[in-house]
Amino acid sequence: MYLDDKEFGSVLLQRRARSRYIRLRVTPKGEVVVTVPWLTPWKAGIAFLESKREWVRRTLERQSRRQDAYAATDPQEPVTDAYIARLRAEAKRTLPPRLAELAARHGFVYNKVFIKHNRSNWGSCSTRGNINLNLNIVRLPDRLRDYILLHELVHLREMNHGPRFHALLEEVCPDHRALQREMKGWRLV
Ligand SMILES: [Zn+2]
Repeated sequence: MYLDDKEFGSVLLQRRARSRYIRLRVTPKGEVVVTVPWLTPWKAGIAFLESKREWVRRTLERQSRRQDAYAATDPQEPVTDAYIARLRAEAKRTLPPRLAELAARHGFVYNKVFIKHNRSNWGSCSTRGNINLNLNIVRLPDRLRDYILLHELVHLREMNHGPRFHALLEEVCPDHRALQREMKGWRLV
């Protein structure tokens, strides 16, 4: 049966012969489901839901945040060869000048810059001082694009992710921790 909850909308209340405990879950679509054992009265299920209201609220919030993040970061169109070709063209046009600008501003010197396409990293830096940038970078907002570029420039001086790398990154990009977290919402295509 369905309960009409003032906060969560319709809540499915069901009995299962094989359940031994009252269970509460939120489905990926955001439906709240309470399962009670066969001989347990419905009102026990309702009381359980009441006692877990805060948990349900947080779970639904987390879910909707995740959906927002995906809506913003998934490509708005199918990933075809033509789409990748467009990303590549935009990357070749915009990324090298921006890299040069950031390098000049912070005093970094690199050798060459290459635009690459792979699904394993946003950028990389070689011991010869060359910087590889993934064409996916052009899908990112400007602040994240700059974060990736600065991260690779700092690798020219520190080839690892040790404390000295982070100290240097902190100087040129004070928000780097928040930006790094934000990067987790993005995936390479
Ligand atoms: Zn790195």
